[in-house]
Amino acid sequence: MENLQLTEKLNKPSILDLEKEDLNKIVAESGEKPYRAEQLWRSIYKECNLDFSEITTLSKNFRNFLSTKFRIGTLEKKIHINSIDSSTTKLLFGLNDGELIESVLMRYTSDYGKKGRKTACISTQAGCALGCTFCATGQQGFRRNLTSGEIIEQVLQLQKIALKEDLLEVEQGKRKKGEIQGITNIVYMGMGEPLANYKNTIKSVKNVIDNSGINIGSRHITISTVGLVPKIKKLSKEKLQINLAISLHAPDNKTRSETMPVNKRFPIEELIDVCHYYVEQTNRRIFFEYILLEDQNDSLSNAEKLGKLLNGLHCHVNLIPVNPTTNGVYGRTDDNANRLFQGVLKRFGIPSTIRVEKGIDINAGCGQLRERVLSTN
Ligand code: SAH
Ligand code: SF4
Repeated sequence: MENLQLTEKLNKPSILDLEKEDLNKIVAESGEKPYRAEQLWRSIYKECNLDFSEITTLSKNFRNFLSTKFRIGTLEKKIHINSIDSSTTKLLFGLNDGELIESVLMRYTSDYGKKGRKTACISTQAGCALGCTFCATGQQGFRRNLTSGEIIEQVLQLQKIALKEDLLEVEQGKRKKGEIQGITNIVYMGMGEPLANYKNTIKSVKNVIDNSGINIGSRHITISTVGLVPKIKKLSKEKLQINLAISLHAPDNKTRSETMPVNKRFPIEELIDVCHYYVEQTNRRIFFEYILLEDQNDSLSNAEKLGKLLNGLHCHVNLIPVNPTTNGVYGRTDDNANRLFQGVLKRFGIPSTIRVEKGIDINAGCGQLRERVLSTN
C-alpha cells in the first residue's frame, strides 16, 4: 500500500511546469476566488515553498485539492557539498526517471560595495549530445532534455539556501533586513546545451524574470551556448535583455573542430556572422568563453587570430583556466601565459577577464560531480 502511494505521488505532474495562466484555470476549477492564483504563484516562486503543506496562507481544502493533482517539485537532492572556503555549494539531484543533474551556487563577497553577488549555475539537459572533448558532461553523452519545471526548481532549491543564509546574516547583524536578496544572478552553464532545449529554456527564463515571483532581472541572466547558429538567430528576436555567452574556445576552424565537433556543423565564420547579427538586433554585447588548453589553443599566435576574428564586434572575452576532468587530457596554462594572451587581446582593443575559479575542490566544473558519483558506485 505504501509503495502504491509512493508511485502515485511520483507520477503526479509538477506544478512548476505550468504557466501563470494555467494556475488561473486550476483555481477556477477548484471554486476558489481568482486572487488565490497569484497567492499560490507568490508562495511558490517568491517564498520558495516546495510543499503544499507549507503554504499556510491557502485553506486546507484548497491545499488538499492541489496535492491530489500535483506536486510542487520533482528533484531529489542526492548530494549537497560545500567547498572548503564556503564560496561554492554544489548539489546533485535525481530526476523522477533516475537521471542525474547538477546545480551550483557561487558566492562572491566583494561586489563593489554591494552585499555580495550570488550566482546560480543551472542545467538544461541531463547529459549533452555535443561531445566537446574537454567537458565532463559532453563525455557522458545525451540523456534527455529537462522540463522547464526541472530547470526552475534548481533555481528554487538554490534560492532556498541563499535566502536562509541572508536571514541568518540579518539575525547576526551582518546584513540589514532590506538587503535580503537571495540569488542575484543566473547562468545557464550547468549540464547540457540550453539552445538545444530551446523552448523549455526560454519558458524558464520568462518565469525567472517574473516580478511577482523569483524576480531576477534579465540583465542578470546569462545563457551560454556552444554556438547553434539558427537558435542564436531565433534568440535575437525574443526581446529578452539577457546576456548571451558563446563557447568559442578556439580562433580558427581547424583548432575548434579538434575539440568541438559542433564546429563542423556551424563553422566559425557562420558563428561570428550571427554574433554580429545578434548585436545589431539586441544592442547588447556578446560574451565569448575561451578555455585555455595548454598547447591546444593558448599560444600567442592563437591570441592574435582571436583578436582579428573579434575585431569590431561589441564583445567581452572570458578566459577560463581549464578544470581538470577525470579523463581530461588538457594541461593548464600558467598564470603568466594567461596574462600574455590577455595582453594580445588588449592590443586589439578587446576587453577580457581571466575567470576566478570557484569550487575546484568539489568538482564544480559542469558534469564532474555526476561523473564522480557514477564512477564510485
Ligand atoms: N553547453 C553550453 C553550456 C554549458 S557548458 C556551452 O557549452 O556553452 C558551460 C561552460 O563550461 C562552457 O563555456 C563550457 O565550455 C565550459 N566548460 C566545459 N568543460 C570545462 C572544463 N573542463 N573546464 C572549464 N570550463 C569548461
Ligand atoms: Fe555540451 Fe557545453 Fe559540454 Fe560542449 S561544453 S559538451 S556543448 S555542455
